[in-house]
Amino acid sequence: MERNSSREKIDDVIRCIEELGYKAHPIVGVERTVIGCVGHEDKSPLSQLESMSGVESVIPILKPFKLAGREFKPEPSILDVAGIPVGGTQLALIAGPCSVESREQTLEIAHAVKEAGAQFLRGGAFKPRTSPYAFQGLRGQGLEILAEAREQTGLRIVTEIVSIEDLPMIQDVADVFQIGARNCQNYALLNAVGQSKKPVVLKRGMSTTINEWLMAAEYVLSHGNYNVVLCERGIRTFETATRFTLDLNAVPAVKQLSHLPIIVDPSHGTGHWNMVEVMARAAIAAGADGLMIEVHPHPDAALSDGSQSLKPEKFAHLVAEARKIAEAVDREI
Ligand code: PEP
Ligand code: MN
Repeated sequence: MERNSSREKIDDVIRCIEELGYKAHPIVGVERTVIGCVGHEDKSPLSQLESMSGVESVIPILKPFKLAGREFKPEPSILDVAGIPVGGTQLALIAGPCSVESREQTLEIAHAVKEAGAQFLRGGAFKPRTSPYAFQGLRGQGLEILAEAREQTGLRIVTEIVSIEDLPMIQDVADVFQIGARNCQNYALLNAVGQSKKPVVLKRGMSTTINEWLMAAEYVLSHGNYNVVLCERGIRTFETATRFTLDLNAVPAVKQLSHLPIIVDPSHGTGHWNMVEVMARAAIAAGADGLMIEVHPHPDAALSDGSQSLKPEKFAHLVAEARKIAEAVDREI
């Protein structure tokens, strides 16, 4: 739309887009509104919008990800994730146990990460484990513990959803849905969280290309849920010295292609607690918008991912070190 177009003109254009059988995705900026039109392959009917009052131009988006791409929204998005801006100067810090194991464990960690500067508590109540015999999470009881942790600390809750049937239950507690690497291309689940309108952290699948990952984000955005934070968590390569290969190339690559914020998880990305801090620093230097870090007071006794979990004091050290890098690249923690 032309600069400072009236609300009436914008509404007229949206109505026309919908009459033509497309879905309209208006992005209202301070000076300018852009309306994404997504629908069937044939773009020719949209050319008639060009003659409408208030329309500046009609531009076809060539990339397959229509709403996630920079063609649609050239400036980076600063999302409102449960009241916390993500994608701006302030870096997002998501920390907590891999799994919610007990009330004591979770509350201890929540207070420690809050003290160190985290805004979000992570913790799985539903765990997608490689082995069916491994701990699968406390489920409903785990959600109750997370709710109490939020009440005590004010931290926003990020927790994984592995199945659509759990959505109503998780939605009541979570501030942010985590879609894990194993479900990055679970399109039914992506549609469900898209419809929920709750913010989503979408982890990269261990074998998804950046294009496939952005198409996964597009599933969520296509329902009008624009609050998607991408999370690089390492990919499968031939290397076995680390659990995964943390692909920090993804940070500048995603930033070139997409306006969505991208955070980095060096815990899963390395699999070794003693590599987490240095890769967290590298992620911030590369331009990441935040970090997701696993923290556990007794990593040896953790029910999942102990070998990559930091003790609370090590996490506090990581934050102090990361802050120095953040300052060097004009960001804040
Ligand atoms: C997790 O965050 O604990 C997790 C299971 O991560 P990922 O989906 O990246 O493996
Ligand atoms: Mn984990």
